[in-house]
Amino acid sequence: MDVASVLRMNGGTGDASYANNSLLQQKVLSRTKPIRDEAIRSFYKEKLPKSLAIADLGCSSGPNTLFMTCELIETVEMLCRELSHESLEYIIFLNDLPGNDFNNIFKTLDCFKQKLSSHVLGGGIGQCYITGLPASFYGRILPDNSLHFVHSSYGLHWISQVPKGVENNKGNICMGRTSPYNVHKAYYNQFQRDFSLFLKCRARELVEGGRMVLTLQGRRSNAPSSNVCCYAWELLAQALNGMVLEGIIKEDQIDSFNIPMYHPSPSELELEIEKEGSFTLNHLEVFEVSLKAACGEDKLDINNSDGYKVAQLVRAVAEPLLVSHFGEAIIDEVFHRYQHVLADRMSKEKPILLNFAISLTKTTT
Ligand code: SAH
Repeated sequence: MDVASVLRMNGGTGDASYANNSLLQQKVLSRTKPIRDEAIRSFYKEKLPKSLAIADLGCSSGPNTLFMTCELIETVEMLCRELSHESLEYIIFLNDLPGNDFNNIFKTLDCFKQKLSSHVLGGGIGQCYITGLPASFYGRILPDNSLHFVHSSYGLHWISQVPKGVENNKGNICMGRTSPYNVHKAYYNQFQRDFSLFLKCRARELVEGGRMVLTLQGRRSNAPSSNVCCYAWELLAQALNGMVLEGIIKEDQIDSFNIPMYHPSPSELELEIEKEGSFTLNHLEVFEVSLKAACGEDKLDINNSDGYKVAQLVRAVAEPLLVSHFGEAIIDEVFHRYQHVLADRMSKEKPILLNFAISLTKTTT
């Protein structure tokens, strides 16, 4: 699987789009606002820049895409007023892989800018330039010393490729709690390579003192069994395995399918940051969100079962990966079964996702 060309969230604004199924990710973004606010306020006070270059890495397409940008600008502009400083100019880089639905974002930009200048701050803010940046963040995306603030929410648990040598990950489609040791090790090694490359690239792109706030899913300890975030993938594997038993999917097809995702422990994250050496870790916050956060409050929806909403959330995220491996024909059936598996399990337990938000400062050049 060539992850950089296959991985993307469902585009557009249809029923299974990311734009319509990203409430959970929005809850996570709201939860981490204080960490971003602290980081950008302290950067501003220290450097007093006249303009700010901000990158959102793994921005996807939908209401969440400009959410962080909007609140970050609001925070800076309020600070400028507090200090009787003039408004700043902003350049915003919206980054994602090339398959992302950038057109959908671009269509909303005029409206966003109007809202920003009139409603959010009552007029009078500086210029805001927004541009798309289609490329993998596991590589250089901007020139040296060109960024002041880097943000990424829910992008970094995606790794750059499914590691080699995981063919014996039978019954699982990710690094699950029951995966063999070699699978865990292969995924961990891939995470180490990717995350350290990510830090190296951002260290070049950020100015000295530049800030970075990253949020990703993770696991509580180094033990693979502490991974609560693979719950949704484990149940998706169950739905797929049911289709193998009925001969709808071939066994070798499912054996060769793995999700390029890794959930690090706090110490695994800290170790890579320390080894790479360009950043100071100011803050690491661990917080949970319930998978039910994906379900919202929409009681009028006739399909409003937890199973349906969570299945749609996962469909918005995983459909392109599944289609590229299994083909289009089985997808409706997969998610129909998945919805029932989820509804059954979620009536008995309250699954949660574990998240880490880290705030870093670029210290060395
Ligand atoms: N930040 C948004 C989207 C999260 S979904 C939100 O909080 O709602 C994760 C996004 O990261 C996806 O759009 C995916 O395509 C993107 N992504 C994953 N790996 C990436 C990579 N290597 N380079 C750039 N984007 C990546």
